[in-house]
Amino acid sequence: MTDLSPLDAAGVESAVESALAAFAAATTLDELKDARLAHTGDKAALTLANRGIKDLAPADKAAAGKAMGAARGRIGAALEARTAELEAERDARVLVEEAVDVTLPVSRQAPGARHPLETMQERMCDVFVGMGWEVAEGPEMEAEWFNFDALNFDPDHPAREMQDTFFIDPPSSGLLMRTHTSPVQVRAALERREALENEGRGIYVVCPGKTFRTDELDATHTPVFHQIEGLAIDKGLTMAHLKGTLDHFAKAMFGPEAVTRLRPSFFPFTEPSAEMDLRCFVCGGEDAACRTCRGTGWIEWGGCGMTHPNVLVAAGIDPTRYTAFAFGMGIERTLMFRHGVTDMRDMVEGDVRFSQQFGMEI
Ligand SMILES: [Zn+2]
Repeated sequence: MTDLSPLDAAGVESAVESALAAFAAATTLDELKDARLAHTGDKAALTLANRGIKDLAPADKAAAGKAMGAARGRIGAALEARTAELEAERDARVLVEEAVDVTLPVSRQAPGARHPLETMQERMCDVFVGMGWEVAEGPEMEAEWFNFDALNFDPDHPAREMQDTFFIDPPSSGLLMRTHTSPVQVRAALERREALENEGRGIYVVCPGKTFRTDELDATHTPVFHQIEGLAIDKGLTMAHLKGTLDHFAKAMFGPEAVTRLRPSFFPFTEPSAEMDLRCFVCGGEDAACRTCRGTGWIEWGGCGMTHPNVLVAAGIDPTRYTAFAFGMGIERTLMFRHGVTDMRDMVEGDVRFSQQFGMEI
């Protein structure tokens, strides 16, 4: 093949025609790309002819440049038009080939579930938020002072022993993993005591969260568990207010038939102190063979009492002017007897099938 001269009008016209024919013949974008490279690439006749303009006699350069520009313009326009056509065809084909049939059955893959401890904790808090209480939170790694001293634990109280409490190294740090949510009560009281003193705003808080003790994991123990505690500080609060609050809480959690009972007990941070029992909601105390209450008619739910004056003093509150009550219960334990969960390990192993039984409750 002899080189095409930029002055060979018929030859240029023929090269253009052959390029246009190749573009028209391309039925896919890939074929069009091949045609474009063949007719406009570095080795194409028109490209070489265009490059040859510089070698022409000066008198011929203008005419040749004009002819080549016109030829290249026609090719470019044809390429652009064919590209648009083929792209439109491709898009139309993709719409048909990749159409989704919305009537087909969906994959039944479970999206997961919220953990029942979380939803239980929210449900418990909601009861108190509905009464105008606040939800207070505090650190899980806590100062020993907040966890024990401020709560009127003696320095040699057995709960401080290494076998019950996770202490943080080094021992001189004075830090531990909180063994109950009670330190949040002290923090909440400290934060709100000025509003109590200056504005007469009583302190009403619930404190939910994780707690830590050096227990082995088994059916009834776990080293990380959850509590919810309540604290009310105001003028003139009595055990009657405590009992009324607990009765309301019990009915909100277990239904209108729920009945509570207080039994004398001892805690360092309350005086007087009481264990709180629920009338067995399975047998109502009528079935000696009941598995839920083991035939006693009552289920131990938590502890409570009038906050010890020493605790109020630690929170900077004058116990001669204000009184307070507090209560606390385990969320795992509540979940166990409210829903018949018999093994605590089910709550920590993270099997989504366990959580899914409780629904999503979002
Ligand atoms: Zn029972």
